Amino acid sequence: MKRFIIAGNWKMNIPPSLDEYRAVLKNPAPERVTAVICPPAPFIPYVADFPDFISVGAQDVSEHDSGSYTGETSAAMLSVFGVKYAIVGHSERRASHFEVDELVNRKTKAALRAGLSPIVCVGETLAEREAGRTVEVVTRQIGAVFGSLSDAERESCVAAYEPIWAIGTGLAAAPEDADAMCAEISKIARCPVLYGGSVSLANAESILSQAHIDGALIGGASLDADAFSRIIAIAAELSA
Ligand code: PEP
Repeated sequence: MKRFIIAGNWKMNIPPSLDEYRAVLKNPAPERVTAVICPPAPFIPYVADFPDFISVGAQDVSEHDSGSYTGETSAAMLSVFGVKYAIVGHSERRASHFEVDELVNRKTKAALRAGLSPIVCVGETLAEREAGRTVEVVTRQIGAVFGSLSDAERESCVAAYEPIWAIGTGLAAAPEDADAMCAEISKIARCPVLYGGSVSLANAESILSQAHIDGALIGGASLDADAFSRIIAIAAELSA
């Protein structure tokens, strides 16, 4: 039986009412689905107080364990607040915070050292896709992070295929294309592989039905408690 991970990335947004959001999630814990919400860092304690079936994730983590790194938060500190997952290498951070593959590798290892599960994001730009370089780019990104990880470390990892042109655009990848890339990623990463990029209530079922897609990383739609909890329910149904 398949297990799914449904992770919400709120980015630098919060739902209009956290209390109302929390109330919508009060349905029974879904079987065989791990649900994760990654809020902006100051809201981690609120999400840690959500129903138990919601795990808390961070949107980023420092590569360092402690020290003079103003503005950074270590994986161990996140763990104290109940954080179980940390997104690393999100394309928005790769683009605007100079996160190159080597840094994403170090952040992945920092998360693992503190017992967090890194959600390692990879994906190609539209220009790379149009140049026929998708597989080359994505396998380079995955190889750079996972090449130096042991089998035991991989067991705690999650990978997320997020084509950059699909993020926040409403233009999700075709389910079969996403599936093919997730299959490629899975061969190298040997861990669950999520798809991210304009996942919505309307397309969740067709995406999650694909053989090599183990869940979704969801931005915009995760801010809507109803849509997010219904996507979790779709995953639960598909896993049954
Ligand atoms: C994301 O932020 O990782 C993402 C996939 O966003 P969206 O679902 O809004 O495209």
